[in-house]
Amino acid sequence: MAEISTVAVLGAGTMGRGIAHVAALAGYTTWLYDPFPEALKKAESAIHRNLAKGVDLGKIAADLAEHTRGLLNLREDLATAVREADLVIEAVPEDMALKIRTFQDVVANCPEHALLASNTSALSITEMAAATGRADRFAGMHFFNPVHVMKLIELVRGLETSQETLDTLREVGVRMGKEMVTVNESPGFVTSRINALIGNEAFRMLQEGVASAEDIDKALKLGLNHPMGPFEMVDLVGLDVRLSILEFLHRTLGEAYRPNNLLVQHVRAGRLGRKVGRGVYDYDEQGTRVR
Ligand code: NAD
Repeated sequence: MAEISTVAVLGAGTMGRGIAHVAALAGYTTWLYDPFPEALKKAESAIHRNLAKGVDLGKIAADLAEHTRGLLNLREDLATAVREADLVIEAVPEDMALKIRTFQDVVANCPEHALLASNTSALSITEMAAATGRADRFAGMHFFNPVHVMKLIELVRGLETSQETLDTLREVGVRMGKEMVTVNESPGFVTSRINALIGNEAFRMLQEGVASAEDIDKALKLGLNHPMGPFEMVDLVGLDVRLSILEFLHRTLGEAYRPNNLLVQHVRAGRLGRKVGRGVYDYDEQGTRVR
């Protein structure tokens, strides 16, 4: 099985920063790339804040947090971020053309043996893999938000992903403290496909005036034992991210996934969720819900 010691994470947004956090905490030398310096700065302070919280709660030893910070390197330049990578995990925005361009830059600059993984929520692993010319060393690693808390990784097998690649990524996931399920590529895998339907139905009910957003969330939490309501969840995921997943599922799986118009309007209004302070609900600077 391939030996992994250096991990490059591409995109320092909601997911990329979390993946870099768990990679460094697992002891991997970690390079986090984003073309926007502001995104890198925010990512670094979020990772430091979450590590400090872990220490305060007694979940991480102070010296481990210190060691983790030391393993984390930030880069605005993709070529240097992937130059020594044994594994590259991509978490750039959910846009196939951008992901393919990014992976083509990666293969032009990373070692031949490097494994490549995408954190896409729904898109085709096989299509990305084909564009890299390394389809056997390419798979999906679908993490969940917040990455340092959520237990699951969906390991997604593209048409030509080798068993050795899957075995190695499974080992990486275990070292990151995660549980894994293996999914054969299919639009939205298991989780995004089901979650998109629930979230879309919740918007439809809100639009029809069936109940308020708060009451729909409360009903699913207290009546169906969901840990979060669908609107709390979509604010966390990002309404733009959810919309692009639904648009893809609608194209690939059919009418049941047509994005609800109220969701589309929220995205047009810039109500993209917690990351911008406003989604279905409003949040203050600390991310606490105010309405
Ligand atoms: P995000 O918008 O929070 O972060 C994206 C990051 O990519 C930003 O920091 C941005 O500066 C950077 N970026 C923009 N253009 C870039 C480029 N050309 N090259 C490299 N980086 C670029 O998005 P996110 O929520 O972290 O989503 C990233 C990926 O993870 C998407 O594919 C998404 O579907 C997937 N995902 C998201 C969630 C979630 O809950 N948000 C969960 C699982 C998977």
